[in-house]
Amino acid sequence: MSAIAETLLGWIAAEQDALVTLLARFVAIPSPNPPGDTRAAAAFLLAQLRAAGVPAELRAAKPDLPNIVATLGTGGPHLVLNGHIDVFPAGPAAGWTRDPFSGAVADGRVHGRGVADMKCGTAAAVATTVLLHRLGAKLPGRLTLTCVSDEETGGTYGAQWLLQSFPDECRGDCMLNGEPTAGTIRFGEKGTLRLIFEISTPGAHAAYTHLSRNAIRVAARLVADLAALESLVGEPPEGVQHAIAAGRGALDAALGAGAGAIMDRVTVSPGVIAGGVKINMLPGDCRLEVDIRLPVGLSHATLMAALSKILRRYPQARMTPVWTHSHEATFSDPAHPMVGILQNAAAGLLGGAPPQPVISLGASDAKHWRDAGVPSFLYGCHPNNMARADEYVDVAEYLHVLRVHALAAAAFLSGQAPFP
Ligand SMILES: [Zn+2]
Repeated sequence: MSAIAETLLGWIAAEQDALVTLLARFVAIPSPNPPGDTRAAAAFLLAQLRAAGVPAELRAAKPDLPNIVATLGTGGPHLVLNGHIDVFPAGPAAGWTRDPFSGAVADGRVHGRGVADMKCGTAAAVATTVLLHRLGAKLPGRLTLTCVSDEETGGTYGAQWLLQSFPDECRGDCMLNGEPTAGTIRFGEKGTLRLIFEISTPGAHAAYTHLSRNAIRVAARLVADLAALESLVGEPPEGVQHAIAAGRGALDAALGAGAGAIMDRVTVSPGVIAGGVKINMLPGDCRLEVDIRLPVGLSHATLMAALSKILRRYPQARMTPVWTHSHEATFSDPAHPMVGILQNAAAGLLGGAPPQPVISLGASDAKHWRDAGVPSFLYGCHPNNMARADEYVDVAEYLHVLRVHALAAAAFLSGQAPFP
C-alpha cells in the first residue's frame, strides 16, 4: 500500500466515530428541494471545514442556495470533488418509521432523507478534503471541493453557475463525485428530454361524439405511438460500446434485472396526464407530460426528427420541449486513469472483483463538468430507499465510500496507485 494511503486509512480508522457523526448531523439538518433552502446545511459543512483549517468559502448565485468552494494546493494535476447539499423532499411523514430528518445512527445504518442521495457522498467529499488538507506539504497537486445547492432542480444556480463563474477553481483536470452508484463506477449518463403535449379539440356533450374528437382518446393514442421512440438506437464510440456491453450484468446487480438492458436504449415515461371536466362532457383538452431518456450517441435532434414524424398524425397536439430540464447524454473515457484508480482502491479495500464502469440511467451534476470538457466519474453507496420513505446508508458502506474517495483523490494527485 502507498504511504499516503496508509496514513489516510489510519486516520479514518482512528476517527471513525467522528466521521459517522459528521454524516448523521448533516442528515439531521433538513435541506429538501423544493423549496431548496440549503443555508443551514451549508453553514454546518462550512463550519466543519473551517474548524479543520480548510480555507472554505461560500459562493451563492441566490442567497438561499449557497455553494461551498475550498481549494488546497496550487500545483497540478487538479482534482475537483463535488457533492450536492440539497435532497429530495421527505414526502408524507406517515410512510417513515422515524422522523425523516432524524439522522439516527441505529442498526448499523445512518437514517434519513437524503443520506444516500447524496449526503453520504458529500460528507465523504468534505472528509476527504479535511484529511488531504492534513497532509499539508505532502499533498501533491491541487484539490478543489465543491458542495452545491440546486442539484435536484438541475444545477442552474449550483454546479453550472460555479463552473461558469469560477472556471479556474472549479473545472479541474478531473471530477470525482459520490452520488449513489451501488458499487459501480459511472463514466457517463443518459440524456434527458422533457416534453409537454397539449391536445385541443372542440369538445362536446358526451353523447355527441360525432361533433368532436375526444382529447383524452387522442392523448391515449399518442402515448401508445410515443413508445415507437424506444426502438431508436444510439451510436456511441467503440470504447463506450464495449464498456456498456461489459457492464450490463453489473448494472443489473446494482439496480435490478433489466437495468443493464436500457443503458443504451431510449426510454419513454409519460409522467402526468390531465384532461376533461365531467364524465358526461366529451373532453376538448388533455395535457401530457413525458420524460424521455436518451442513450449516449443519440442526440436530441435525432429524437426530435423521429418525434415530428409521429406528431404529423396529431394536428390536435401542440408540443413544448422543456429545454431548461433537458440535457444531451454525456460521457467520459471509460479507460480514463481515474477509473483504474477507483477500481484499484475499491478492490484493494474490499477484495473481489473491481467495480465496473457503467452509464447512469439518471442524471447528475457530472453532466455540467463533462459539458466543460472535464472527465467526470461517480462512485458511491447503494441507493437504499432513495426518493422513498426510510432512506438509509450502512455505516460500513459510508466509511468504504469515504476510504475510496480519499485514496482515489490522493492517488490521482500523486500519480501513485493506493494498492500494488
Ligand atoms: Zn443526487
